[in-house]
Amino acid sequence: MVKYIVVTGGVMSGLGKGITTASIGRLLKNKGYEVTAIKIDPYLNVDAGTMNPYQHGEVFVLDDGGEVDLDLGNYERFLDIELTKDHNITTGKVYLSVITKERRGEYLGSTVQIIPHITDEIKRQIKDVAERSEAEICLIEVGGTVGDIESMPFLETLRQLRMEEEVMFVHVTLVLNDAQGEQKTKPTQHSVKELRELGLQPDVIVARCREPLLDSTKEKISLFCDVKKEAVIGAVDVDDIYRLPSVFAEEGLFDVIKEKLKLDDRDAMESSWENVVIQLDSISRRKHVKMPRIAIVGKYTHLVDSYLSIREAIKHAAMELGCKPKIEWIEAEEFEEDEEGVERLWDYHGILVPGGFGTRGVEGKMMAIRYAREHDIPYLGLCLGMQLSIVEFARNVVGLEGAGSTEWSETPHPVIDLLPEQKKLKDYGGTMRLGGYEIDIVEGTLAHQIYGRKKIRERHRHRYEVNPKYVPLLQKHGLVISGTHKERVEIIEFPKNRFYLATQFHPEFNSRPGKASPPFVGFLRSMLR
Ligand code: GLN
Repeated sequence: MVKYIVVTGGVMSGLGKGITTASIGRLLKNKGYEVTAIKIDPYLNVDAGTMNPYQHGEVFVLDDGGEVDLDLGNYERFLDIELTKDHNITTGKVYLSVITKERRGEYLGSTVQIIPHITDEIKRQIKDVAERSEAEICLIEVGGTVGDIESMPFLETLRQLRMEEEVMFVHVTLVLNDAQGEQKTKPTQHSVKELRELGLQPDVIVARCREPLLDSTKEKISLFCDVKKEAVIGAVDVDDIYRLPSVFAEEGLFDVIKEKLKLDDRDAMESSWENVVIQLDSISRRKHVKMPRIAIVGKYTHLVDSYLSIREAIKHAAMELGCKPKIEWIEAEEFEEDEEGVERLWDYHGILVPGGFGTRGVEGKMMAIRYAREHDIPYLGLCLGMQLSIVEFARNVVGLEGAGSTEWSETPHPVIDLLPEQKKLKDYGGTMRLGGYEIDIVEGTLAHQIYGRKKIRERHRHRYEVNPKYVPLLQKHGLVISGTHKERVEIIEFPKNRFYLATQFHPEFNSRPGKASPPFVGFLRSMLR
């Protein structure tokens, strides 16, 4: 029987509920339990695929092709597991399923209502995923904050779930310091009150706080919120999110969960997570740490979460190599307005051009790629970054004037284009190539060197491809195609440079602490020489 831990949030959004959920999961995994996690997103979108990363943060892509909330990325990274699109439940998905059944007449003439039909459907989806995952403990994070209209049916469902399954509730809040430095518990009290009005009583309160929670603060929260004092857990700010499982361990969270969920005793061998903590410690202890500067030239650079997985992948690589990169986000359009501006890239040890859609900023990104190529600055291009590398190369090395991608406009040299099968799909609503595909790597290339293997599997999210007609011409001018999936170009490199590698896939989605993504390790290593 799967046991459930429900994580809700109060006071305000952005308290790091996703990281908290992932860290609780990791704590349990370190103790020897099989864990999985579900994210509930109360919005009406069926999935995150259509959502603007500028408003919502990155769209995370799973191996099965699911386009999901970025918190699933946090779960995969912390728990080192692979999730499916069903691990992200949205209001849109639930209603779509209920309305489809209603149209098929499956409700046999009854009035279809939020209770019980929507709530039953939510329950069915939760249990289904949890059981299929074969985990012992399933975390369920409810997006948004308690009190949002959208999340009501979900909270009602979880209240009911308690009658049927072993469930515990964790509520994440914030403890602020006032001007005198006193820790204030009123917002926590209020949000627990709100939770209780819905018939839910938390078993654990995780309070985000700048300084460790004082004993007296814990006592007060315990008294007013009806939670045992040991179950008031301080989530003090940490220098790195991967330290949070250790914080929870020290605060005694495991014993509280063990008692509440009646978990059996295990002699867990310390897991691979220990290495992650060792890597972090060794960097923070070192007096002299190399700090390569990386410029990420993109479009949504003012919302750092729009490239969350890239940031994490760089961090994983840095942990492995024992350095501390400094990432700077540069709006590609800046270069278009001021051509000299691209010269400022000289100050960086590495340049990264990430994925993206649409036309805005593409010329600026290509200026950055050209600068990297001509000045031999280590360069990593991802998805759109690779497509732009091809266009830049076609224009400035091969000499194909006006070369471009048919995604942006008509061009005499469509070096990036829709393949015929994708064209067919586009007529039916523009389906993308999504998820994990096997890739063959050419021996003796940089890609082979960094991956150390001839077959890899990486995740995709794009429509356009390198036009195979132009491949021989590009190769003749020194571009190397080092990875392919059938006739599709997956990895390119330019061996004249120290490190110039670009991928059609998104390696960042497979990167994990302790298992850094090879292109990121290679990229960073080339900067340390
Ligand atoms: N816009 C490009 C395509 O659809 C690249 C997509 C991406 O970078 N994720 O092919």
